[in-house]
Amino acid sequence: MSLYNMKIEELSGIGKKRAEQFNKLGVFSVGELLTFYPRTYEDWSEITDIADVEDGATVCIRASVHSAFQSGFTQNGKYIAKTYVADDTGLCELIYFNNKYIDRMLVYGQTYRFFGKASNKFGNISMIAPTFSPDESSSEIRPIYNLTAGLNNNTVVNAVKQAVKLLPEVVNDPLPDSLREKYDLCDLKYAINNIHFPSDGEALKKARKRLIIEELLVLNLGLRSLKSHKRAANMNIICKDYSDEFEKLLSFDFTNAQKNAIKDCIDDIKNPEVTLNRLVQGDVGSGKTVVAGSVCYSIIKNGMQAAIMAPTEILAEQHYNSFKEIFKNLDVNIALLTGSLKQSEKNDVRERLKNGEIDLVIGTHALITDNTEFKNLGIVVTDEQHRFGVAQRAKLLSKGNSPHLLVMSATPIPRTLGLIIFGDLDISIIDELPPGRQEIDTLLIGSDKRVRALGFIKKEIARGRQAYIVCPLVEEGESDLASAEEYAAELMLNYFRDIPVGILHGKMKSAEKEQVMRKFSENKIKLLVATTVIEVGIDVPNATIMMIENAERFGLSQLHQLRGRVGRGSEKSWCILVSDSTTENSTERLKTMCTTRDGFKIADADLKLRGPGDFFGSRQHGLPELSISSLADTKNLALSQGIADFVIKDSQNLLDDRYRALKAEITRLFSSTGDSTLN
Ligand code: ADP
Ligand code: MG
Repeated sequence: MSLYNMKIEELSGIGKKRAEQFNKLGVFSVGELLTFYPRTYEDWSEITDIADVEDGATVCIRASVHSAFQSGFTQNGKYIAKTYVADDTGLCELIYFNNKYIDRMLVYGQTYRFFGKASNKFGNISMIAPTFSPDESSSEIRPIYNLTAGLNNNTVVNAVKQAVKLLPEVVNDPLPDSLREKYDLCDLKYAINNIHFPSDGEALKKARKRLIIEELLVLNLGLRSLKSHKRAANMNIICKDYSDEFEKLLSFDFTNAQKNAIKDCIDDIKNPEVTLNRLVQGDVGSGKTVVAGSVCYSIIKNGMQAAIMAPTEILAEQHYNSFKEIFKNLDVNIALLTGSLKQSEKNDVRERLKNGEIDLVIGTHALITDNTEFKNLGIVVTDEQHRFGVAQRAKLLSKGNSPHLLVMSATPIPRTLGLIIFGDLDISIIDELPPGRQEIDTLLIGSDKRVRALGFIKKEIARGRQAYIVCPLVEEGESDLASAEEYAAELMLNYFRDIPVGILHGKMKSAEKEQVMRKFSENKIKLLVATTVIEVGIDVPNATIMMIENAERFGLSQLHQLRGRVGRGSEKSWCILVSDSTTENSTERLKTMCTTRDGFKIADADLKLRGPGDFFGSRQHGLPELSISSLADTKNLALSQGIADFVIKDSQNLLDDRYRALKAEITRLFSSTGDSTLN
C-alpha cells in the first residue's frame, strides 16, 4: 500500500483535531507528510565558544548554569528572569520573559546546549529566550517545519519520526539506480531520512540535492509531455521556402541569429507532423519584425493568409508602414485593421479578408480576434506576447484551420526559465544585434545630480532630440495618477516651461494613451513623462534620453525594457538611472544595468537577485507547487534540463519499465494542476 493512501490520523498521537491542523498545511497522508520538508534547520551539532559569539548571529552554545536566577517585572508588567551561563571561554547572560518556571527548568551547575540569536555588545554577551536541551541528547541538526495555529514543531517532528519508520525496506525510487549513479544522486530512502533528520551537514546536502533534482526533473518532463500533447498535425503545410527571396527585398542581410530563427520556423511549417508553435525571443532592436515578415512571406507565397497582431495601434501602424515599404514592388496585398479606421474601412478590410483578397493583415489584436473571418489563415504572429495570455492565444487559433503561431517577445527571460514559462511553445532566440547599433550610455546618479540631468535633457531637446522621464513607481496605496500628474506639473513649472510635455499613465483610456504616443512619435511632444506604460508599444528613433526616477524600485528586466525605448535611431543615446538607495543589493542590480546591454544577462541577474516572481505573472498559476526546489535556482534547473534530455532518450520517452515510478511521480505532480492530458 502506498503511504499516500495512509491517512495521518493513523499515526499515534494524531487525532481528528491534530489532523485538521496538518490538513491546513496541505498534509493529508503519511506520504505527504514525508514530503513536507523542513522550512529550515537548527544546527545543534556545531558549538560556538561564548568568546567567539558575534553580534546578531544565531548560535548554539554549550554552557552550564553559572548563577542563580534573578527575577522581577519590567516597566510594562512582564515577568523577567535572568541568569548567567558559562563555558571555558566566557559568560553569557540569558533573559526569559513570562516564564515563571524557567528557574526550575534550568538547574544550577548543569550543562545544556542553548540555541538562538545572540548579541555581543562590547563583549557583553547575551541571548534572549534561547531554546535549550540537556547537553548529552542534543548534538543534532534539528528540522524546523512550517506550522499553523495550535501545531508546534515537536508535534510535527514526532509525526515525521513515525512516518519515516513506516518506509519500506526498499523504497520504490523514481530515479532508477543507473540514473542515480550517472549523476551521483543518493537514493530516495536516504534522502527522505536525511532531509528530515540529517545525520550531519554533508548528508543534508546530499539529500537536498537529490530531492531538488528529482522535483525539477519531474517538472521538466511533465511540461515537455504537455507540450507534445498540444502538438497537432500540420493543416497549413508549405511546399517551398521563400526566405531567400524575402531577404533580397531588404536593404540589409539577415544576421545569423535571424537566419536561424527563420529556419526553425520554416522547418516546422514544412513538417507535416507539427504545427508551428514557437516563441522568438530577442532583445529590442534585434530585428524580430523582419523575421516575422519572412515567415509570413513564405506562407503567403504558398497561397495562404497571414495576420500580425500588435499590442497598440501605433505599433500596428509602424509595422504596416514598414511592410508596405518592403513589399512595395510585389503583388502582396497588405491591410491595416485598427480601431481608429472608419467603420466603412473596417468593413471593407474584413470583407476582403473573408474573400481572400488580402494576404497580410496587420492590426491590434482585439480587431483581429473579434468578428473577423479569414478565407485561408495560415499563420498568426503576435508581437510582445507577454501582454496576451494563453486564453487569447487560444482564441486566435480558433480563427483558421489550426493556423501556425509565432510569438515575438522582447522580454528577456532567462533561458532556463523560458522552457518552463512557455512550456507549450518551442523557443528560438535571437541573441545578436544587427551590426552598427548605437551605444546607450547608462549612468547611475543620486538625486543630488537630478537638476544637472534635467539640464542635460533640456539641451538635447534644444538640439532637436526627444526624451522620456519615467516617474517614480508608486508604492502600494499611493495613487499612480496623482503622482504622475503632480510630478509632470512640477517638471513643467520648474524646468520645461516652453517645451511641449506629454503625460502617459496607466489610468488613461487607451484612446487617450494612443493620442499622446502619436503626438510624441510625430515629434509634437518633446518630453514624455510616463509611468511604465511606455514599456511596450512605442518606437521613436528620435528619442535619445531616458531618465528613470527611483530606479531601485524597478526590476532589472523592466529597466531593460524601458531602456530599449532609446538607442533606436542613428544618434547616441543615454539612460540615466536616478537612485538614492544604498543597499548592497540595489546598488549591485543598478550597476548591472550600467555595465551590460545583454537582456539575457540582465534577466539572469534579476532572477538571482529578485527571484522568479517577476517573470511569471499570472502564468505561474498553471504550474504545480514545488516543495523543495525553486525556479530561481538556475544551476539545478539547467542540470535537471540536461538530465531530462538524457531520460527521454534513455527511456524511449518514459516507456522503459525502469522509469515507471518516475512516470507516476509526473502524473502525481501534475494532477494537482487539473491537467489531465498527462499520462
Ligand atoms: P525588434 O522588433 O526586435 O525590436 P525591429 O524588427 O523593429 O526590432 O528592428 C529594428 C530595426 O533594425 C528596424 O529598423 C529593422 O529594419 C532593422 N534591422 C532588422 N534586421 C536588421 C539587419 N539584419 N541588419 C540591419 N538592420 C536590421
Ligand atoms: Mg518589435
